[in-house]
Amino acid sequence: MANVGFIGLGNMGGPMAANLVKGGHSVQVFDLSEAALSAAKEAGCRTASSATEAATNVDFIITMLPADKHVKSVYLADDGLISVLNKDTLAIDCSTISAETARFVGAALKEHGIDFIDAPVSGGVGGAKAGTLTFICGGEAGAVARARDVLQHMGKNIFHAGDSGAGQVAKICNNMLLSVLMVGTSEALQLGIAHGLDPKVLSQIMAASSGSNWTLDVYNPCPGVMDNVPSSNGYQGGFLVDLMSKDLGLAQQAALASGAATPMGALTHNLYRSWSQLGHGREDFSSIFNYVKPILK
Ligand code: NAD
Repeated sequence: MANVGFIGLGNMGGPMAANLVKGGHSVQVFDLSEAALSAAKEAGCRTASSATEAATNVDFIITMLPADKHVKSVYLADDGLISVLNKDTLAIDCSTISAETARFVGAALKEHGIDFIDAPVSGGVGGAKAGTLTFICGGEAGAVARARDVLQHMGKNIFHAGDSGAGQVAKICNNMLLSVLMVGTSEALQLGIAHGLDPKVLSQIMAASSGSNWTLDVYNPCPGVMDNVPSSNGYQGGFLVDLMSKDLGLAQQAALASGAATPMGALTHNLYRSWSQLGHGREDFSSIFNYVKPILK
């Protein structure tokens, strides 16, 4: 059993911290949201009154925050974690952020003798609740091996993608592909519906055919096709349009920096940005289904 600090108890972090408790760890948590803290307390976590308190005297500190600026400030601000972490604490950031920021935070902590890995996740809120996430790690092999003690209680796959920042690069490659699949699946379903097809039947046909993919088979964007997915819950409770838009921006930055050609990624980035600007930023990313509704003739 390890002493674990956990900061960021949102859609993902809340259930991840709860699974650490189920795995027998002692977990002290912090979030800016009182509601998130209360839910974590009910799940058996000990609540702290600040991020630094949650990170004091722990074997592992895990962060699951929205974006680069939150991770930078939680770790490196004057009153940030860097001022309280023990040298033998392993810092694990599971947020999806740029590889540059991951390397920057990792290097700053290293100067203080603290090990840091980037460990963004795939698998969505369902995977976070079920403890079946995929962790995509970047950092020194020894630190990644040590992180397995806690990551195994929150996920079923733990990959080591390479050095510091490599986990973030692999993660944005995955999410760029995910966005392309989601938009394509939405278009195909809307086309079938516009021609009178039952979306459940069409989904079964495509799932058994060459159009099969995760967004169709596991996370169907059409309301009523599947239970327990955001589309059947008013597009609430999943992966926000604004977070997908952020990840696609990170992918475009990485493409520009390397000269990689990502025309489909650029297109989905623009679609998700405008969907957010139309007021859908706080919905699950499968709500893009409604953006590709047929135009009424
Ligand atoms: P979320 O918005 O639901 O949760 C983020 C939490 O961080 C909130 O509870 C917020 O109060 C807290 N927070 C923000 N700043 C803080 C601070 N300074 N100190 C303490 N707490 C702070 O987001 P989420 O869906 O849980 O996603 C978290 C990260 O995981 C993001 O980087 C996202 O891109 C990534 N991710 C999300 C999903 C998903 O399906 N939701 C899947 C994979 C990866």
